[in-house]
Amino acid sequence: MRIGILGGGQLGWMTILEGRKLGYEFYVLDESPKAPAAKIADRWFPPEEVEEFSKLCDVITYEFEHIRESVVSSLVKDTLPSTEVLKIKRSRVSEKGFLSKRGYPVANFKVMSAHQIEGLKPDRPLVAKAESLGYDGKGQYLLRSEEDILELVKNHSPEDRFVVEEFVNFIAEVSSIAVRDIEGNVRVYPLSYNFHSEGILLYNYAPYNIPLESRVREIVSELAVDLGIVGLLAVEFFVTEEGEVLINEFAPRPHNTGHYTLDGSYTSQFESLLRAITGLPLGRTGIKVPTGMVNLLGLSLEDIDLKEVMNIPGSKLYWYGKEKRPRRKVGHINISSEDVSLLKERINRTLKSVYGGVPAKVK
Ligand code: AMP
Repeated sequence: MRIGILGGGQLGWMTILEGRKLGYEFYVLDESPKAPAAKIADRWFPPEEVEEFSKLCDVITYEFEHIRESVVSSLVKDTLPSTEVLKIKRSRVSEKGFLSKRGYPVANFKVMSAHQIEGLKPDRPLVAKAESLGYDGKGQYLLRSEEDILELVKNHSPEDRFVVEEFVNFIAEVSSIAVRDIEGNVRVYPLSYNFHSEGILLYNYAPYNIPLESRVREIVSELAVDLGIVGLLAVEFFVTEEGEVLINEFAPRPHNTGHYTLDGSYTSQFESLLRAITGLPLGRTGIKVPTGMVNLLGLSLEDIDLKEVMNIPGSKLYWYGKEKRPRRKVGHINISSEDVSLLKERINRTLKSVYGGVPAKVK
């Protein structure tokens, strides 16, 4: 079977690495033939050849949400998950609107233009998120003062739309990933604890056993059904001081918080995606061994003391082969241990070795 992937980033790269074991062939559509997945695909297509690409593939999926509208509208086959889900996801306004209309728990929010935000006098911190192209904290502003508002206004046109939500004083960020197959069977991966630094995931680990886990699993599988997902659905949550969970956002594709599944789960998120979209039975999503992940951000291989890092028991390097740019995700390290407290200690050691310090002690 020939699988097409829209987007050539590391998520596609890991999907291909996992899919080779299943005997699949992969075509990748991306602007650059040097993108990680494009380099290891059977064939690379530029966006101008989207029609040919979609004709030749048996199944098409995506690993990136912000695919050009001209590409999406030129596909001659639908994708799995569908492009309808992409449409909801591509705009933060429609994503938050969908979630709140259907009664999912989200932070209180309003949709406002940059012009309207200019007139705001926040009496408590707010977070403004630009409608489009917002990921990894991009296009995101913490509004506490007039200066913060001026900064936003300076960077945007008056008519640009934002989701303006309350700043959530969360005690933890967690996520879970659901996989749903063509027949509608759903399986959910355990909760992971996620730590972000400046809007980007720095490390995470699973399992993270908290009483709210069953509630999270319920929400994730309901949302997968509601969105008609065939494939993966990752959902990120805030755990509040009041003991509730609020959805921050979802992603209908493999997710950075699921990289631990490559070494920690019976079936990785990438294999799950492939099983789901090609009509194979779903695999076990449970934890084989507690595993964490440390993102490698804005580094080159030479910046890392590989001997030191890979000497940490249970560690494995995934290097995407991308060029170094500030804060760019260029690889990750998975670390496994039977013992969760030992695992946290090893995540600490990894962070210390890679970044020379730990932003906050691993909880
Ligand atoms: P996002 O780009 O929406 O995934 O946000 C990136 C990160 O910014 C989140 O993982 C949080 O750490 C932080 N963040 C986003 N929205 C809020 C909020 N309403 N309150 C507090 N922190 C937030």
